[in-house]
Amino acid sequence: MRENKVIYGLIGYGGMGRWHTEILSNVPEIEIGGIYDIKEEKRIEAKEKGFSVYGSEEEMLSDPDIDVVLIATPNDCHKPIAIRAMHAGKNVISEKPVTLSSSDLQEMENVAKETGKFLTVHQNRRWDDDFLIIRKLVEEQKLGHVFRIESRVHGSRGIPGDWRKEKIHGGGMVLDWGVHLLDQILYLYGDRKIETVYASLTHITNQEVDDGFTTILTFEGGTEVLVEVGTNNYISLPRWYVLGEDGTAVIRDWQLNGEIIRKTGITEEKVVPVKTAAGLTKTMAPRREDTIVKEELPHVSGDIADFHRNVAAVIRDGAEPEIKLFQVMRVMKLMEAIFQSAETNQVIDYRQYES
Ligand code: NAD
Repeated sequence: MRENKVIYGLIGYGGMGRWHTEILSNVPEIEIGGIYDIKEEKRIEAKEKGFSVYGSEEEMLSDPDIDVVLIATPNDCHKPIAIRAMHAGKNVISEKPVTLSSSDLQEMENVAKETGKFLTVHQNRRWDDDFLIIRKLVEEQKLGHVFRIESRVHGSRGIPGDWRKEKIHGGGMVLDWGVHLLDQILYLYGDRKIETVYASLTHITNQEVDDGFTTILTFEGGTEVLVEVGTNNYISLPRWYVLGEDGTAVIRDWQLNGEIIRKTGITEEKVVPVKTAAGLTKTMAPRREDTIVKEELPHVSGDIADFHRNVAAVIRDGAEPEIKLFQVMRVMKLMEAIFQSAETNQVIDYRQYES
């Protein structure tokens, strides 16, 4: 620490590494002490941007000024770098997914315990506005008992980049986007156990790793959650669709377009049926206007820099970490169950893993 600032060493200066430097420029409690990337052109780029650059990982790890190593390399490199960093006396933030399996994570956790170092994971989408809106709606029971949540992200360009397409690097969409969406759901329902897991994977543009998936989780207390990632979807379904006994909420896109429709309590004595080609239906007829009310989504806004502020508070003052390893482990085990379900085409009785 220098002048009470927590000093980060950033490893990996690709898309996410650069994004970290932008976010951290607004966090005065933290300073980037230096950057290391395995590629020389990236080190040159970082230097040109005004950062100090290390010639090797060892050089960074032996710098006594570095308090925290922030790892933003491809997924398969997180574990070995994190373990070397903790052995060198550094605290560690790993990008998501922390690693590729729960046994790998257990090894990392053991090293954190042995060395007494702080290990956490950048699950930044807990601060996404769309998620915070849904969390508020659920917690405040705005829709009554929520019996179904659908959380989706859809794109149409296949798997981006290079290493994300390869199994050896921890590619695929379960590990890439799934880890975010599942972390959000488990954070939302932290105290509720999952009872069953079913999943299917897609391989439209890539045979080696999944280029999308759908999973259905059932939670104790009777909520079903669908989580879906698609990369071959030329028409996107809404980002969130939440069904409660008293109403429905939708968030359509990243711009937070959407609304809530709730029942007013006024009942229709006589439903006017709607005419369809094959006959009349009352069940699917639109509601009379006075029986429902349309409301705006609540305004909630997150600040991703809070993740880093929390890390600084953990290091400086022993504050409680926002992203805890037991939560990360729960997501990792759930991703393993998703792969297992997809491979066997079976619904997994998940209660055994949640005891
Ligand atoms: P990228 O390919 O753009 O960048 C990775 C960088 O790491 C490259 O510059 C590469 O040269 C470097 N690198 C590879 N191996 C290295 C090693 N052993 N030592 C040092 N440098 C090494 O990838 P990206 O999109 O920046 O993703 C990096 C990580 O960030 C991944 O784990 C990804 O899942 C994560 N990520 C997180 C978010 C988020 O919102 N939290 C978003 C995007 C990516």
